[in-house]
Amino acid sequence: AVTNEVIIDWLARFHDIVAKQRAYLTELDSAIGDADHGVNMDRGLAQVVEMLQRQATGPDASTGALLQHVGNDLLTSLGGAAGPLYSALFLGAGAAAGERTRLNADELADSLRAGLVELVRRGSSESGDKTMFDALDPAVEILRKAADDGAGLGPATAAAAAAAVTGREATAPMLARKGRASYLGERSIGHVDPGAASATMLVIALAEAVA
Ligand code: ADP
Ligand code: MG
Ligand code: MG
Repeated sequence: AVTNEVIIDWLARFHDIVAKQRAYLTELDSAIGDADHGVNMDRGLAQVVEMLQRQATGPDASTGALLQHVGNDLLTSLGGAAGPLYSALFLGAGAAAGERTRLNADELADSLRAGLVELVRRGSSESGDKTMFDALDPAVEILRKAADDGAGLGPATAAAAAAAVTGREATAPMLARKGRASYLGERSIGHVDPGAASATMLVIALAEAVA
């Protein structure tokens, strides 16, 4: 089950992957943005992980409360366009998880879908706009299908991670319609979106944390 311990491990793993791939994220953002995505994500997540370890959320806290905590921490720590969007994802997921103290695959799929609805409310991104949504939406969709098929959390999140990778790669030929990359118009074509790349790391970290 996705317990609070798993969620804290998830964020720590997300930061580890981002820290190792920081140059790659910066490279992607220098092609179609302002070259700060690697730095923003690494620095911001380091702070979030640190805050999570310090804040006594307590073993009795609900999953929803912890996820909302993460959402608030992300808002204060992560800069750029990505900060409020990742924050919205966790705030929405936390609101949906509510008073539960653990989530099964079905509940995780519901929670993350609610998070994505919040992210879309914040950024008004649609499929094909070349954003983090293009990695996250197929991942949550596959998670939903796997849960409906009775898959456990391990296989369900592994399938979601694979879907995020495919979604990330699919952003390369897209024309950016949101954020800084959209100012480039046609010149945004041919590059993977940095937010889709970091969002894929988020899903990979989740699969690792539940495995
Ligand atoms: P900034 O452009 O402020 O430097 P970041 O570099 O932190 O922001 O993040 C850029 C990423 O944010 C993009 O690659 C894209 O995935 C994502 N993004 C930007 N605007 C939106 C939006 N409206 N909806 C969803 N994602 C967005
Ligand atoms: Mg940037
Ligand atoms: Mg910036």
